[in-house]
Amino acid sequence: MKDVQALRNGLLAWYRLNRRDLPWRRTRDPYAIWISEAMLQQTRVDTVIPYWQRFLDRFPDVEALARAEMDEVLELWAGLGYYSRARNLREAARTVVDRHGGRLPEDVETLRSLPGVGRYTAGAVSSIAFDRPEPVLDGNVKRVLARLLGLREDVSKRDVVERLWDEAARLAAGPAPGDLNQALMELGATVCTPRSPSCARCPLRGPCAARAAGDPEAIPLAKKKPPAARVEGAAALVVRGARALAVRRPPRGLMGGLWELPGDDLADGERPAAGLRRALRERVGLEVGPLRKAGCVEHLFTHRHLRLHVYHCEAAPGRVRRAGPDAHRWLPPTRLAALPQATLTRKALELVLPA
Ligand code: SF4
Repeated sequence: MKDVQALRNGLLAWYRLNRRDLPWRRTRDPYAIWISEAMLQQTRVDTVIPYWQRFLDRFPDVEALARAEMDEVLELWAGLGYYSRARNLREAARTVVDRHGGRLPEDVETLRSLPGVGRYTAGAVSSIAFDRPEPVLDGNVKRVLARLLGLREDVSKRDVVERLWDEAARLAAGPAPGDLNQALMELGATVCTPRSPSCARCPLRGPCAARAAGDPEAIPLAKKKPPAARVEGAAALVVRGARALAVRRPPRGLMGGLWELPGDDLADGERPAAGLRRALRERVGLEVGPLRKAGCVEHLFTHRHLRLHVYHCEAAPGRVRRAGPDAHRWLPPTRLAALPQATLTRKALELVLPA
């Protein structure tokens, strides 16, 4: 990368004129910035805004988050996905209170020692909240830098990623590193987009190698992702008298710590009703009466496309014996919707609960 200072100047001038007015850009509070960075990973800005506002209203500082029950945190996170982020935030808040006197660390190394804080988040918080000259490299920045440099290599390869971190670090090693990093991310999100980048209004159009070659969309090269595996599952609103059964997933893993209707993935070739009876027997130790189908819901996770068959049924007498879920509750059905739950469960409840 030649003439780093000119690139910086162009990016900063462009950012000051074109930055979107986002709520976390109106604060200098490191805690609020950290929460925004955690939420923005894998999630669109428009989706994050209301979640961030509600989260800050309920947990306005790191002490409040450290004191929170995990269920409360998950409840506010419900629908945002990647729930390990929420669990890690609460754990990290406790660490900040216990070991750092309630002040978020400024340097990247100490930030990275907090649960869930990786290289990107540490760089973002350190530069944006504390003005330290630390780089960031997310998908947007990777694309911008790969195009700027004309890097026709697979940007998921470790050595290519390291090269991009080095280039990002050279750019961040100057004045206003927080703005500079945000300028790169903003440029990738709004101008240097994966398809049809708007090179004519880009501050990097002069030195950009991909633009000069006339094929910016061809960069970055990336391995094709394998298609999401298709999985079938079955779950039921299992009622006993005036109550229905909810189960909580174990704390780690997909949708960890969230509540859902009891059920399971189906084995290859297993029919939904038979699979559901098997799942209820194996996972909560219950036999049930006739199954009434309420419908199906579909949900796309990162690597799997799940089609969930949803039923109503009544539990036969007998105690719940769990094998898999880490807690259960019998609740009036209308209260199920208030439990911390993933979007998949919300969709399933919409099928089985009266509107
Ligand atoms: S000139 Fe075009 S390809 Fe190059 S960084 Fe700007 S928007 Fe991206």
